Amino acid sequence: MIYSVIVDVSASEVDRIFDYTGEGYAVGTRVLVNFANRQTEGFIVEEKQTTDYDPAKLKPIIRALDDFTAISPQLLQLGQYMRSRYHLRWVDVLRLFIPAELRKNRVKVLSKKQICLATDDDLDVILNSLKSNATMQRDLVSYLYINGSALAEDINREFGFSAVNALLKKGIVCAHDITIRRTPYKDMPATPQDKRTLYSAQQNAVDTILSDPQGKFLLHGVTGSGKTEVYLTVMERVVATGKTCIMLVPEIALTPNMLRQLRQRFGDSVALLHSGLSVGERFDEWLRLKNGEAQIAVGARSAVFAPLNNIGAIIIDEEHDSSYVSDFNPRYNTVEVADYRARQNGAMLVLGSATPSLNSYYAAKQGKLKLIEMPERINKRPLPQVEIVDMTLETRRGNKGIFSQLLKQRLQHTIENGNQAMIFLNRRGYSSFLMCTKCGYVAKCADCDVSLTVHREDNMLKCHYCGKQYYMLDKCPNCHQSSFRYGKIGTQQVVDLLRQMFPDVNILRMDADTTQNKESHGKIIDAFKNGEAQILVGTQMIAKGHDFPKVTLVGILDGDQSLHYSDYLATERTFQLITQVAGRSGRDKDVGSVVLQTYTPTHYCLQLAAKQDYVGFYKREISLREASAFPPFSEIVRILYQGEKEKDCIDLLTEHYAQICNIKSNFSRDFYYLDKMRCPLRRAEKKFRFQILLKLSQNNLDAILQQIYAACDAVKRNGVQVFVERNPQNLS
Ligand code: ADP
Ligand code: ZN
Repeated sequence: MIYSVIVDVSASEVDRIFDYTGEGYAVGTRVLVNFANRQTEGFIVEEKQTTDYDPAKLKPIIRALDDFTAISPQLLQLGQYMRSRYHLRWVDVLRLFIPAELRKNRVKVLSKKQICLATDDDLDVILNSLKSNATMQRDLVSYLYINGSALAEDINREFGFSAVNALLKKGIVCAHDITIRRTPYKDMPATPQDKRTLYSAQQNAVDTILSDPQGKFLLHGVTGSGKTEVYLTVMERVVATGKTCIMLVPEIALTPNMLRQLRQRFGDSVALLHSGLSVGERFDEWLRLKNGEAQIAVGARSAVFAPLNNIGAIIIDEEHDSSYVSDFNPRYNTVEVADYRARQNGAMLVLGSATPSLNSYYAAKQGKLKLIEMPERINKRPLPQVEIVDMTLETRRGNKGIFSQLLKQRLQHTIENGNQAMIFLNRRGYSSFLMCTKCGYVAKCADCDVSLTVHREDNMLKCHYCGKQYYMLDKCPNCHQSSFRYGKIGTQQVVDLLRQMFPDVNILRMDADTTQNKESHGKIIDAFKNGEAQILVGTQMIAKGHDFPKVTLVGILDGDQSLHYSDYLATERTFQLITQVAGRSGRDKDVGSVVLQTYTPTHYCLQLAAKQDYVGFYKREISLREASAFPPFSEIVRILYQGEKEKDCIDLLTEHYAQICNIKSNFSRDFYYLDKMRCPLRRAEKKFRFQILLKLSQNNLDAILQQIYAACDAVKRNGVQVFVERNPQNLS
């Protein structure tokens, strides 16, 4: 038999299939092959009878690498789709489908030696056979008699190696290997929850969804309308028919809460998949899904590739979230991938959000998704009152601080009443840059075109793009003076300022810096939920999804921060963010309030977000998009060039650009825009960055893109990476 193999090496030239011979391998198996005079790992992607190469020269596959088929035929097919849709290399796609550490054998099933009694005799009988001074052996036997069995490592430590060995030799105890399962959030209690009665809006949503098992739905429910319960009920019904489910949340920060609710409902049938788990946990959870031991996969973006068959439902919560669009290699759109997997499986696709993406809401209006509305909070609880504070006025009145008078009053009030507050600022660190007041020097990353953020806790300067750290400056490296100005305030400084204002109040912070340990998200959330702190400060990590019943105040600092980016998504993203953060307030008995601080108080985006008027915002924004032919009325495509040699990048870009101009001449009506330029972020991780930007009509999109992809493939250059992005969320 002949097998087509993708070798697992990432040099850009080899996105090619190589043929090998062998017998009895399943397609999707990882194998060891000889490649370029080295033993290399690879994936079998096809089995066939004939080859275009000289069959006599084909090398044999050396052996299979796992005792299971790593990639199912369905996922291979999905890979093929992603390859052609996003212009990806095989190897990058295939790597998405397996735990990274499976490669090079860096993770395996964990097994440990277990010791148990080898006889059924009574304890007295066994003890009588031992010497009376063999205390350790006697104690061990008694221990095992009561406890049944124990791990060798534990009893070796407790009773000593020689006692264990002696008993093994006498045949009184025996040893065997057992598999140890590594479980994320092992201590999370899974007490079954009392069955809830659905509210009528929830029941309607569930009925609508279940009436069409292959349907596509957009569940538009305001914050606190009880969407989670809808998802859980739908999954319950799907699992009851013997099918499997995938449940996606946008942030790792949201997985502990979702996991808890799923475990309460489904116990051990749930497996968690995301990059924040330990290597062993991720592998074991993946394997449980693969073996059919778990039927429900929950996680962030990458869980869409869960190794499940017979999928009945894929649910994407907060479907509008930009994290669903991968902005590094391999670049893909999770909602599109989920849609493909749902079609492959004849499964339903449920997208849920309080602030659906304009694309999804438009698709629903077009009848491509079935729209389900849940316009009220459960129990008819009111949405929070949002008050906009004009920070320019505040400054004119002499308040130069970051908190408005109103927010300070509200905070005081909330704390006095024993309630909780959340303060949102989408900027981590202490301050956004460090500038010399004498010469204007700004500290920048050596590898990226990014100014460094000041971090006070460890007194370092950090690049928020690549993570590189630098010692704090005491003198300007340029003019050697020591007078600095600090940039915009970040979450660390907000906490410092709050501590000065409220010295007796406990304050927690949740952002990328405080959540580097693998279970820290869950710990911070639990601590806040349990009332161990009264104020939670955070970035977009706290903005959505969370349900903290005692929060009655949300403060939004710099509410228009994201409004002033130049890309067409800025308004949509700002609206979503503000509506979502506001939605964290007043979710239980007490009415919530929100203080929204901004320098552009009259902007329609902020006005409508304050009213939580999604439909009003949608109408206004969609007509702007239509008038200016932005998505969903067109497709933005960016071709990104990255390389350490600037000239090579420019040369390749220029060649491709010429080719694309040729293509344009055949499709001139479909090209709304075409140009080449430097990226706004000119350099990142030592690489220069250039781009070709296109805005294309939907009409001949696939045909045009296939020609463009072919043109890109025809001319390559060593050291220059070329990536295609379709409707990217991030155009930096
Ligand atoms: P959303 O995701 O729409 O913002 P949630 O799913 O977090 O809203 O629900 C809001 C709150 O209402 C949660 O505290 C949830 O436990 C509670 N809740 C939802 N549905 C029910 C129900 N049927 N019975 C009782 N409580 C419910
Ligand atoms: Zn950097």
